[in-house]
Amino acid sequence: MSHRIRLEQCIGCGLCADECPRWAVVENNGVYEILQRKCNDCGRCAEVCPVNAVIVNKNRTSETPSK
Ligand code: SF4
Ligand code: SF4
Repeated sequence: MSHRIRLEQCIGCGLCADECPRWAVVENNGVYEILQRKCNDCGRCAEVCPVNAVIVNKNRTSETPSK
């Protein structure tokens, strides 16, 4: 499980997508979602989201290289 976005809270600002180093955040019908297989749980999206729409994965695995 990686970071996720609460679609009902997302305002579609795109800040998380700009910040994501792995291009894991994609726009979908005006809101954004995180591609689970790309996200490495770095947490940057959660830090920049102005409405706290990102659900943080507590089991961060950013130290582990992931593809
Ligand atoms: S936790 Fe990091 S890798 Fe995952 S979607 Fe957010 S910014 Fe991208
Ligand atoms: S930063 Fe937050 S509100 Fe903005 S697109 Fe990402 S999840 Fe949605």
